Order: sequence, then C-alpha cells, then structure tokens
Amino acid sequence: MITIASSSPLDQLLERVKVCVPRLTKGKKAVLSALLTADKPLTAHEIYALVGMESTSAENTSAQKEDNKTSIDLVTIYRNLEHFEKLNFVVKTEHSNGGWRYSLTEKPHSHTITCTQCGKSMSMGACIMADVEKIIAERTGFVNIHHIVNFTGACPKCQHLSHS
Ligand SMILES: [Zn+2]
Ligand SMILES: [Zn+2]
Repeated sequence: MITIASSSPLDQLLERVKVCVPRLTKGKKAVLSALLTADKPLTAHEIYALVGMESTSAENTSAQKEDNKTSIDLVTIYRNLEHFEKLNFVVKTEHSNGGWRYSLTEKPHSHTITCTQCGKSMSMGACIMADVEKIIAERTGFVNIHHIVNFTGACPKCQHLSHS
C-alpha cells in the first residue's frame, strides 16, 4: 500500500534542500519559494522584488531566530543564490542581455497514474520518489539522481466494469 505524500511543492523542495542546508534561514526559504513560483529563470533583482513583496506569512517552522527580518537585501540574495548553486539546487544561466538568471535545477513535480483500460490519467499528488532516491544514493553513492517512472493500473471505474 502506497501512502501519497500530501506535502506542498515548497515543503518538498525544502525537505530536499534541508539535507544539505540544515539551517534554512527565512531569506533562503524566500529565495527558493520565489524560484519555485516563477515560470521562468529570474534575475537576482527580480527575486529581490518578489521577496520584498512577500509578507510574513507567519509560518515560523522552528529555530530560525537568526534571521527574523521580513525582507533581505540584494547582497544576501546573491550570496544565497551562490550557495544554492554550489549545492546544485540552483542553476545560473547567462541571459541574452548580459545579466544572470537563476532557476531551480529540478522543480518538485507530481506523478500521474494511467489506466491501461480506458487511458484515463489521475494525478497522484506530490512526488513520492524522494525516499527511493535517498535509498539509491546510500546504496550506490550516486548524487543528482533523477527518475522517469510510469505508473499504470486499472482505474476505479474500469475495476468495477471488469467485476460485473
Ligand atoms: Zn479506466
Ligand atoms: Zn518524481
């Protein structure tokens, strides 16, 4: 029996990052959140604009007392981006106008399961393969593990049809 993780894409991303960065400051979280919500690579200035607008959504998870400021300065954003880039969570690309743009190396994604009988696809919610990747990493020593998986089965409707 598979339990479906109900965590949001941001929670999922933070989980991954926390493995390498156990002490995630509010500023770092804000940068990741901005990159996650954006549908295109962002410049540090664009992130700064987004993070600045973001109000304190009062979800002080725990022990991040060192950074209680709502907004962070541009220098900190650059520093955070560089840190994430070093850890391979963020990729930096040069834009045609000369500026640097940043995006997440891998956005949290969800999986679908397809019915082999009627072809209907259903979303399974957030990716549940993170733990599997962790196990693979431990067993093989590989890093930057990615996956392509296909789930198929008989949907509730088709199950019912084949039983009657
Ligand atoms: Zn079906
Ligand atoms: Zn996945």
